[in-house]
Amino acid sequence: MIRHHPSDELMLDYAAGSLGEASSLALATHLTLCPQCRAANQRLDAVGGNFFAHPVEGTPGQETLNSVMARISSEQAVPRAVAHPLHPALPQPLRLALGCDLDAVPWKRLGIDAYQCVISTRDKIATARLLRIPAGRPVPVHTHCGNELTLVLRGAFSDLTGNYTPGDFQEADDRLVHQPHAEPAEDCVCLAVTEAPLQFKSWAARIVQPFLGI
Ligand SMILES: [Zn+2]
Repeated sequence: MIRHHPSDELMLDYAAGSLGEASSLALATHLTLCPQCRAANQRLDAVGGNFFAHPVEGTPGQETLNSVMARISSEQAVPRAVAHPLHPALPQPLRLALGCDLDAVPWKRLGIDAYQCVISTRDKIATARLLRIPAGRPVPVHTHCGNELTLVLRGAFSDLTGNYTPGDFQEADDRLVHQPHAEPAEDCVCLAVTEAPLQFKSWAARIVQPFLGI
């Protein structure tokens, strides 16, 4: 059961096509695993297409954004989420980006007992990587100073914001001081996307820009 999902803002950015390649990879991979967000994304695509077709002058504010999300939430019943056992095969967007499945990832050592594999993208601002944290160990200190997206693929981790299992999605910024620990049952494999702070400064404009028609 997936309990942690991308924020409305991130979903809107993704639907608008304004996310960078690395973050889009994280969203696309989550959508592969999460029927609830997949349905929401389809509704966003439909609503966004309608707005593009009927543009109106004006600048929407937070109230407008809230009404968009309320409409999207109410327009269609959300399909029941199902437990999603993680198969050895990676979700397709990630497998295509990596060029292999989990059993063939060319891991590189990252500190003591942790491993990473940087995923090659054309993204100049954000970096996508697979992280493998040994069971029961803390995530090693890393150098990101901006926003970070984390999607659990295998195993689980916990921090002060909760427990994250396969399919769960965490958004963190540099205000969140946390030290995630891999749960003891098995190694935790995550897709992590780190961005420089500047990347998110124009979020508000990028989020509402596609919805100028309402
Ligand atoms: Zn979701």
